[in-house]
Amino acid sequence: MTYDTVIIDSHVILPTGMIDKNIVIDDGKIIGLTNDIPACDHKINGNGLISIPGAIDTHVHYGVYSPINEAAKTESHAAAIGGVTTMMRMLRLENAFSNSLQPQLTTSSEYHYVDYAIHASIFTQKQIDQMSFCTDKGITSFKIYMNLGGEVGHVYMDMPPNSSNLVASKVNVTDELVEKIVKNAAKLGCPVLVHAEDYESCGCGIKKAKEKNQDGLSAWSSSRSPEFEAKAIKTVCKFGRDYDCVIYFVHIGSEQALLQIQEEKKLGTKIFVETCPHYLTLSYEKQNGYLAKVMPPIRTENDQKAVWNALSNNQIDTIGTDHVANQLKLKLDGDDVWGALAGFPGIGTSLPILLNDGVNHNRITLEQFVKFTSYNAARIFGMYPKKGTLEKNSDADVTMIDLKKEKKVTSELFGSFSDYIVYEGRNLKGWPVKTIVRGELVAEDFEVIGKLGHGKHVSRIITSK
Ligand SMILES: [Zn+2]
Repeated sequence: MTYDTVIIDSHVILPTGMIDKNIVIDDGKIIGLTNDIPACDHKINGNGLISIPGAIDTHVHYGVYSPINEAAKTESHAAAIGGVTTMMRMLRLENAFSNSLQPQLTTSSEYHYVDYAIHASIFTQKQIDQMSFCTDKGITSFKIYMNLGGEVGHVYMDMPPNSSNLVASKVNVTDELVEKIVKNAAKLGCPVLVHAEDYESCGCGIKKAKEKNQDGLSAWSSSRSPEFEAKAIKTVCKFGRDYDCVIYFVHIGSEQALLQIQEEKKLGTKIFVETCPHYLTLSYEKQNGYLAKVMPPIRTENDQKAVWNALSNNQIDTIGTDHVANQLKLKLDGDDVWGALAGFPGIGTSLPILLNDGVNHNRITLEQFVKFTSYNAARIFGMYPKKGTLEKNSDADVTMIDLKKEKKVTSELFGSFSDYIVYEGRNLKGWPVKTIVRGELVAEDFEVIGKLGHGKHVSRIITSK
């Protein structure tokens, strides 16, 4: 028997530790890890590189500022270069899923270089009623935006495929709606992803800061203080306990939010925690301009330390980038921090940031790195053992890493729709150099060589039923 591919001479990192074995791949699947080199059509020489289960980015926004037929192409290109083999899209639709979901799915299937999965955002009763329509299509997690409502209820939804118009919308995610979503998600056995910021408090905070003519990222942070995160965390965790629903907190980046989550865990809430590379690397104390405006805001150096500690102690489960594929002309379409657009790209720099600042600075081990970048996400979101592992029969998604590779970050490096990056010019040591999706080499040495359309939708299973 001749196999498709064997990856030789790499150090394979699993959540349990490192083993030096060859990875045998056939028909897009892992056949096994062996000491010998069986007959094969392609040999990939690892030359001492690190091989890990393909990285999963749990939190990606694309299809908002360019339609999915373009966004999938550019952002999965950036993903491939960044070593990400599965990108999880935060789908935001204005209308009923029965009308608007299928066109997104059909179009998506033609334009990805890497695999993708979808979280569905819920804004209305009509959408709550159609959550099972989503689970039938393998979309088994739901996003709640507690930050959106009242005076701060403005949001851009995803564009319909092939459109080029922004879809500006206003929504009202009240506590009542949050409770209903949590209740229904629990019934379906699905986790909810929660953006935990209390919109009423944030609305007041912003109003006050504007009245005082405050500006800059520090004003942005104090206008939506960590207290308002803690408040929302408390509210949704109560619902989580009442209905026995798994709560996954997206983009946690402040010490106070982390402390509140520890409290809620003690009370018995089932919680998973995601942080983003920017909360590990940026603070408003050191960051000028408006590029790093994001919700929730980047905080202080002290918060940054707290997030690193939580990561080192495994109080955080996953790394998602909260990547937003937007452009400078929209991002800085205003004279102050209030007029700037929130969110920035980050899917390509996630692994190198974690390797440079985390692994190479001995803050996290390579085993932890694997858990945070794939294994935990696959388990939480119903993709295990298809993804997040190199076990026999799992998808042959492999990211190969050169821990010594140094490179300066530029926005051009990734081929994203975005024309800027908050890490511009930063020298990072530790980069993904080969990205393999279901046995196909999709990117190598900062170049995408895969086929457009190779990326497939990962239909997920229900995890907690
Ligand atoms: Zn987000």
